[in-house]
Amino acid sequence: MGAERVTSMARPRLDPDALAFAVLRGLTMIGGLAALSIVPLRPEHQIHLLPLLGAFIAYKGALFSLLFFRPEHARAIFLATLGTDLGIVFVLVWFTGGGESHFYLLFLTLVALNAYHFGPGIGVLTGTLSAGLMGLANALAVPATAWSHIAARAALFALLGLALGHIARRERWARAELERVNAELRAALAALEAARDRALRAEQLAAAGRSSARMAHEVRSPISAIGLNVEMLEDIVGGSSGPGMGEAAELLRGIRAEVKRLAGLTDEYLTFARLPEAHPEDDSLNEVVDELVTFLTPEARRRDVALEAALDPGIPLFPFDRDLIRRAALNLVKNGIEATPRGGRVGIATRRCGDSVEVAVADAGSGVDSRHVPHLFEPFFTTKPRGTGLGLVIASQIAEEHGGTLTWENPPGGGARFALRIPLGGDRANGPGASTEPAAAPSGGRAHD
Ligand code: ADP
Repeated sequence: MGAERVTSMARPRLDPDALAFAVLRGLTMIGGLAALSIVPLRPEHQIHLLPLLGAFIAYKGALFSLLFFRPEHARAIFLATLGTDLGIVFVLVWFTGGGESHFYLLFLTLVALNAYHFGPGIGVLTGTLSAGLMGLANALAVPATAWSHIAARAALFALLGLALGHIARRERWARAELERVNAELRAALAALEAARDRALRAEQLAAAGRSSARMAHEVRSPISAIGLNVEMLEDIVGGSSGPGMGEAAELLRGIRAEVKRLAGLTDEYLTFARLPEAHPEDDSLNEVVDELVTFLTPEARRRDVALEAALDPGIPLFPFDRDLIRRAALNLVKNGIEATPRGGRVGIATRRCGDSVEVAVADAGSGVDSRHVPHLFEPFFTTKPRGTGLGLVIASQIAEEHGGTLTWENPPGGGARFALRIPLGGDRANGPGASTEPAAAPSGGRAHD
């Protein structure tokens, strides 16, 4: 079964934090430029602010397009354009009077925004660069402002970068922590809901088991009485030679077959509700399987299905409950026969796998339908008109009772394969649950996970 390959063509997207940062940086710079234009400048410091503002808006537009098409490089783009922004502010400050210019306030917005977005490291770096550029602009401008003023502003830049960066880091850490706790809570809630569903289901199953056991118990005696009476009637009818006796004998045979089916059903319901405790005794698994094949051959022949056994002679005697294991294997082989079309074959193989032994039933049917997989081991799940939906449940209960597993798969060659694996137990193995081989996935599964 070839695994389907899904390739995602989705483009990476700019995360909301980065988008907000880009917008804020653009807005504060443009807004700052516009606001500062209100302040009257000396005639020699007049600049053509309008074309400058236009150019700045165009530059921010280009930045947004770059971010939109290359969101995975957002950090590098932000850091590179931070340099450009600082350069622009430096030129502005220089041309509008150096230390005297109000445009140095734009350095503050850059420090604040970058410290908040990148944290204290970049915050302090932006503050230091801003201080240096402001000092340079002051040195280049004539006349230069007193250096004590410039130094005070410079200290403020670095402090702002450090303080805001630190707060931002703590806030981000708290948010991540909150998200982590939130995710943990959601997972715990999901687990709780799953556990509640399981408990509810277990209770429903227990209730179903109790009522089916009561019903099966109630009808068992009348059914066996009817069976006995039918047998007596058959004897009477067989010994009579009156008109219609042949037809009566035929009818009685039909009744006997139905009574036998009903007795089997009640037996299955009772087993499901109260699986008898396993009484393991040293026994031969091959003998059990061989006897089962002999027992089921007439039924298989009637359906034109060949039963073929392949028994591993290397399986030693080991302790298991003969009746229970026979019952589990019977359910699997019956399912295999029922799933196989006329002319097909069902193989039953035993083999030793390390510390455990396996009875595998492989049929020539169409395999387990993918729609039925989630319900396969649900009690009462059946797709057969006369099925009980208890065969696999009982088989898996029996496997569990022996510390083993019941697994299944739809092998590549077709059909279904159910494998009952039981630990050899005692001195012959390392104890119960010695099964090591997982069932093939995704076309197979285990009854107990
Ligand atoms: P029942 O045989 O009474 O239906 P089971 O518990 O034995 O109850 O089986 C439940 C269902 O699992 C069946 O009705 C069938 O749909 C599916 N199933 C079991 N064995 C096989 C198989 N060998 N091949 C395909 N489907 C199977």
